Amino acid sequence: MVAGVSVLAKCRVCGRRAVYWVPWANTWFCKEHFVEYFKRRVIRTYEKYFPKNHERILVAVSGGKDSVALLHSLTPHLLDKGLKVSALFIDLGIKNYSQKAYRIVYENTHKLGIPLIVTRLADHGFTIDYVAYLVVKRIIRRPVCSICGLVKRYLMNKTAVEKGFDLILTGHTLNDALAFATQNIYSGNIYDLVKLKPYIPGRDGLVARGKPLLFVYEAETKWFVEAVEAPVLDVKCPHTPRTESIIIHVKKSLEELDEKHPGYMSMAMKNIVDKLIPLLEEKLPKPRLVKCRICGMPSSTDPCGFCRLKIRISKYRLGRISS
Ligand code: SF4
Ligand code: ZN
Ligand code: ZN
Repeated sequence: MVAGVSVLAKCRVCGRRAVYWVPWANTWFCKEHFVEYFKRRVIRTYEKYFPKNHERILVAVSGGKDSVALLHSLTPHLLDKGLKVSALFIDLGIKNYSQKAYRIVYENTHKLGIPLIVTRLADHGFTIDYVAYLVVKRIIRRPVCSICGLVKRYLMNKTAVEKGFDLILTGHTLNDALAFATQNIYSGNIYDLVKLKPYIPGRDGLVARGKPLLFVYEAETKWFVEAVEAPVLDVKCPHTPRTESIIIHVKKSLEELDEKHPGYMSMAMKNIVDKLIPLLEEKLPKPRLVKCRICGMPSSTDPCGFCRLKIRISKYRLGRISS
């Protein structure tokens, strides 16, 4: 993937000196027209895949470049349409990370003038740092990031339900989404594959969700936040896995392929979303959802994964389980 200042190249739109080379669009852009191109693509995904009945939208923002790019590219469009937009920051209680992330999210929402809702995992009696400690002690036998994903999905939905939002937006980009889709195809994990679409309608207490950056390359979100001078988090979560998982290898292979054949990843994602997933959805029964007897949130199990995690943590604290 290439980006840089060219002495000779000219912006395709205005003819001024170009700054960004976008290989999959085979085009040079100046800063202003790259920003316009990026916003247009995000808005196009929203307008094409999202129904028009949503009114109160919650944008989950972690402070990373992808969610910050989502906030800056789509929020003005949603506000222009008269929709209510708020940002959600989930404080996971990660030392030397969560507080910095909060400040970044605050600065961005302040700049855009949109309300910020903060949900603290510590208010539920534990933090991701504590989960990491329990993983090391083998009290919890799942990777920290897997638990973190469960916690984020749960708190996003719970906050949206409690505050009356009817759509949650997240900043998942093409590179990660296609790597997951590819891995799910190879491993036959069809139920997770069908979730990789720009819009999933709400049902039975699950609020509708969307990924408006699903066709946007990770590199583009980096250039976009630079171009609009949006502050982004410059530290890594201390729990980022040190070893590379299969999914990271798949992602790197796809990126190498895209470097040789620009646009390959975006074409593959479009075909998966527009052709493969609709066919699979016709055949698959909808996974059954039940109401968690403890917290009342929808879940495939009863109690839900979040409540089961809380139970395990409190049993450990009471000395009922040991490593
Ligand atoms: Fe959570 Fe893992 Fe991301 Fe850290 S690296 S924020 S633990 S998912
Ligand atoms: Zn231009
Ligand atoms: Zn529950």
